[in-house]
Amino acid sequence: MRRCVSKMEFRFLVDYYEKIEGTTKRLEMTDYLVDLFKKTPINLLDKVVYLTSANLYPEFVGVELGMADKLALKAVSLATGLKIRELEKMYQERGDIGIVGEEAIEKKVQTSFFAKPLTVKEVYEKLDKLARASGPSSMDMKIRILSGLLSDATKKEARYLLRFVTGKLRLGIRAMTIIDALAIAYTGSKENRGLLERAYNIHPDLGLIARTVAEKGVKGLEEVRVEVGVPLMSMLCQRIPTIEEAFEKMGGKVLLEYKYDGERMQCHISHGKIKIFSRRLEDITNPYPDVVKHLSESVLAEEAILDGECVAFNQDTGEFLPFQELMHRRRKYDVEEAIKKYPAYLFLFDCLYVNGEDLTLKPLLYRKEKLKEIVKETDYIKLARYKVLSSPEEAHLFFDEAIESGCEGLIAKSIEENSIYRAGVRGWSWIKLKRTYQSKMIEPVDLVAVGAFAGRGRRAGTYGALLMAVYDQKRDVFKTICKLGSGFTDEDLNNLPNIFRQYVIDHRHPSVESKIDADIWFTPSVVLEVIGDEITLSPTHTCGLDLIKKETGLAIRFPRFTGRWRWDKSSQEATTEDEIIEMYNAQLKTVQA
Ligand code: ATP
Repeated sequence: MRRCVSKMEFRFLVDYYEKIEGTTKRLEMTDYLVDLFKKTPINLLDKVVYLTSANLYPEFVGVELGMADKLALKAVSLATGLKIRELEKMYQERGDIGIVGEEAIEKKVQTSFFAKPLTVKEVYEKLDKLARASGPSSMDMKIRILSGLLSDATKKEARYLLRFVTGKLRLGIRAMTIIDALAIAYTGSKENRGLLERAYNIHPDLGLIARTVAEKGVKGLEEVRVEVGVPLMSMLCQRIPTIEEAFEKMGGKVLLEYKYDGERMQCHISHGKIKIFSRRLEDITNPYPDVVKHLSESVLAEEAILDGECVAFNQDTGEFLPFQELMHRRRKYDVEEAIKKYPAYLFLFDCLYVNGEDLTLKPLLYRKEKLKEIVKETDYIKLARYKVLSSPEEAHLFFDEAIESGCEGLIAKSIEENSIYRAGVRGWSWIKLKRTYQSKMIEPVDLVAVGAFAGRGRRAGTYGALLMAVYDQKRDVFKTICKLGSGFTDEDLNNLPNIFRQYVIDHRHPSVESKIDADIWFTPSVVLEVIGDEITLSPTHTCGLDLIKKETGLAIRFPRFTGRWRWDKSSQEATTEDEIIEMYNAQLKTVQA
């Protein structure tokens, strides 16, 4: 193994960047990288790898250079003596800050007498300082650091430095290309890329992988471990059109789990400290202080890495909200407000590491057991709902239940011996089963309130949701179709017990057919106008039961009260079961059309 410790001029590096930028062939790009990595002194290899992938650190560190163009132009002005206005005009004409820098160096009206060739080490260290500068004087500091570098830079170096600091390096070199090049440069063959890839997937730090393989060869990669605080690449799903095919692919016995529609969260817990990473390895701990708190109350292990999906919910009814609602968390200034308005559940579905034990190579059911052992479920932290099933028929019912609960479908997960956690891999061990159609419910419907559920939290003392039904005129009965908890004003809400007082009875009304047990029952009388996202199959509601599919009824997904009390309508004038079936069929037709 090479052990040389030496200098490398920055000029040498940017020559490669120019060549890479000039090629349109992927293989040629890899060849240039192989050549570059072979000629890079080992002590600089991690830095060269980060710089080449347009970063200064591993991606998950999340310190970004992203210097504003205006600031960068100020630094050019300081280094060259050219006026800011002139530089801005050049930028408008050229549209590439790198080219502006290059031309500015050419025209420069002041030369530095002490200019010396830039080295990779020096450039890296200064950029590191620039990236970390914070506080009130940080802008000036950034400008000074960059202008210092530009004073010593050649034209070509200025081009790449400026593109780099403004986040526009655009060499388009992805992690997998770097891994290919490292495999060839340091193990002699691309054959070994799988080993590098596995190391990268469980510890996505390209600089570390590069130095390890360069210093210790393929064997050294075994030392690259799962580490709390370093996000693993997420395991991903394949897609398959039917549940039957998923069973065939997975050996007849399958773990089926709700596919929640929210944001993926990889939670790292270490002795009371908690970090949350997104699917793209970003640190998203800050927008989720509530999840951090709930995790700290729920996870019993000292150290753990847990995989899950966070879903916003309606605090009054507990129902899931569409995934977009979580995005309110990403607006920096109103996190507190968003937490109040859109609290979130975290559904944990996998356990990758517990108290020093790497579980990624253990089968799924083992990991599920561990998860159960170390997580105490609370109001906010839950275990993802799953069933191990052997028949597609049962799976269909479970699928409908998932959709009706506000999920996107199911994920079929292999429980075979080799069902390890394949970090970063989109393989056949996890298969997503989503609906093949989705269409909008355009018309509101008029539904009868037949019961209610006691409220909790903000709704304690009033109703959390109403149980709504359609009318079956042939048999003169009311059949349930949804729980309704959204769309009410605060005033409406507080008033619900008053409005319904005169209709309350102490048992289910004989004309109501319901599989659900309400807390309070009404004589079916009051009609409300309701709009939803769509009509879906449902194992819990009695509307359309057995008419479209055995043991299955119909439900309204994401129902909301429009605000119109239909006092003008009697319960017999409510939307009928037949009308709902017609709407359901029309929905299917529009999709097929
Ligand atoms: P893709 O992953 O295909 O790029 P996507 O981000 O839309 O697309 P899907 O493939 O549709 O995601 O589904 C995978 C995602 O489903 C996971 O990344 C995770 O966020 C989410 N998910 C929800 N519930 C589960 C679960 N029980 N197990 C695993 N993933 C789940």
